[in-house]
Parts: sequence; C-alpha cells; structure tokens
Amino acid sequence: MTTSINTVGVIGAGQMGAGIAHVAALAGMQVVLVDLEMDRVEAAIAGIGKNMDRQVKKEKISADDKTAALGRLAAAVDHASLKDCDLVIEAATENEQIKGQIFKSVCQHLKPEAFLATNTSSLPITRLAANTDRPEKFIGLHFMNPVPVMKLIEIIRGIATSDETYEMAEAVSKRLGKITAVSEDFPGFIVNRILMPMINEAAYTLHEGVADIASIDAAMKLGTNVPMGPLELADFIGLDTCLSIMKVLYEGMSDSKYRPCPLLVKYVEAGWYGRKTGKGFYDYSGETPVPTR
Ligand code: NAD
Repeated sequence: MTTSINTVGVIGAGQMGAGIAHVAALAGMQVVLVDLEMDRVEAAIAGIGKNMDRQVKKEKISADDKTAALGRLAAAVDHASLKDCDLVIEAATENEQIKGQIFKSVCQHLKPEAFLATNTSSLPITRLAANTDRPEKFIGLHFMNPVPVMKLIEIIRGIATSDETYEMAEAVSKRLGKITAVSEDFPGFIVNRILMPMINEAAYTLHEGVADIASIDAAMKLGTNVPMGPLELADFIGLDTCLSIMKVLYEGMSDSKYRPCPLLVKYVEAGWYGRKTGKGFYDYSGETPVPTR
C-alpha cells in the first residue's frame, strides 16, 4: 500500500510530540501540532528548529530541508484545527483520563476516514480505542526518545484494529525512516516491559543503599556496554513517565515484582521529574549534572 497520509496532527507538544512533529515535517508531511497553550506549542516549534540546526551542522539535512520542514509545521490549541488530518498521533501526558478525554473530543472533528494513533508507553491500546468512534482505525505507534535519533517504532494493534490501519502504520513508519517491531497489546509492550523493571531495580539499588547514583550508572554503563546508566536514562525519559509505566505493569500483571520503588515515588511527589524539570536523580542546574544522592 502506498500511504496517502499527507497531513498529520500531533497532540501534545512535549518532548515526544515535538520529536514526532519534527520527523513528520522532514518527511514532507503537513503537521498540525497541538497543546493546551500556544506558548507551549511555539516553544516546541522553536526547539524543533534548534534540533534541525544541529542536523544541518552534522550534514544530515540541508538548510533548505530545514526551512521547508519548518514551513510545514502549524501550531494550534483546538481540535477543530485537525479536521483535515489523515492521521492524528496523540502524544500527551501518560494519563489514561487525559488521553480518554482527548480522543472523545478529537473524534468530533476528524474526517470519517482519518486514522488515530497513540504514542502511549504502556496503556492498553484496546482500552484507549474504546474512547473513539473508530477502534478499527486506531493503533499504537510507540516512538522512542529522542524521536529524530532513535530508529525504532513499536506497533501495537488493539483487538479491533483493521489490517488497513496496520498497513498504514507500517507505511508511515517506513516513510519516517524508522524500523518497526510489532507487539501484542500487553502492559509495557516489548521495550518498557523489559526496560522499566530495570530502571525500577536501579532505584531500589539506590534506595536500599547498595550503591550511590554515580556508581549505579557507571557500573551499568561500563558493565553492560550501554550509552546511559539506568538512572541517567530515567531522568531523560521523565520520572513521572517511568512511575506511570511501573504502575501500569504492576496493576496490569497483578504481580508484586513490578512494585514501583518508594524512592521513585518520592522523587515524583517532589516534582523532580528529571531533565524536563531541571532535577531528578541528577541536578541539571549547573554545567554538568550532579547526583542528588
Ligand atoms: P511531556 O510531559 O514532555 O509532554 C506531554 C505534553 O502533553 C505536555 O506538553 C502537556 O502540556 C501536553 N498535554 C497534556 N494534556 C493535554 C491535552 N489535553 N491536550 C493537548 N496536550 C496536552 O511528555 P512526553 O515525554 O512527551 O510523553 C508524551 C507521551 O509519550 C506519553 O504517553 C509517554 O508515555 C509517551 N512516551 C514517552 C517517552 C519518553 O521517553 N519520554 C517515550 C515513548 C513514549
């Protein structure tokens, strides 16, 4: 199937939504980026411009590619602006109530043939689809962070997702230059089912005083040959997002092995969400990140 997706809506202009808008615009699609406030969308578009500058410097794209892509980006705060979209990708906060409300509202404005996707890290696709008038046109498209750099998209079908929707998801992923892995609709899908318990265990390792933050990250980086330690990675993902995913694993599997670490809970209660708030397992206010414990 050749994809007929020319106009894409992205709901949520946080780190993931901005990344998705970035790659879609570079792939030649018209993009409408939506968040609750215009300031937030405009800041996201300014951030996309900066990230594209970096790609121009590295000669991954030309200056003309950047100008053309930025010209394809539109900012909005209302769902009526998504009426011409062929596909809308939801990338708002990882909260089922918020996502449910978004789907109920957006469906009132979409063309009947428009597809809907969610970038949720962990919520059941079938349950999210039940908030829409088109569960057969609904699918999970789970991008990785940072979107312009990471090659993978996990594709998750809900129980009602049609073959046509799945083929659209494969075609769009390919057009965005990504490689796909297909997962069944079970908590955490593939990546977070395996990654989040590791991050949670790193928080327990810290909580129980086995080692400090710097030692845990150094040990895992050098000992398992990964580019980031688990606590550094947790800050990068967002501790609020990590905790939400652990809760979904814990509740979804009814298994105590997924119990969120109380120290992770405490960091989130403090508003220490990681890089995006300036503090998490590390403090980012200075030149180099400083461990908070
Ligand atoms: P984020 O906190 O950076 O951004 C979320 C954005 O959603 C915010 O700008 C917020 O204002 C906006 N938002 C909240 N309610 C909204 C509404 N009703 N309408 C429009 N916008 C609304 O979060 P993020 O890291 O970009 O995560 C977004 C989604 O992507 C989540 O579902 C998360 O699980 C998923 N995800 C995150 C990662 C990651 O590494 N952070 C990776 C893959 C998937």
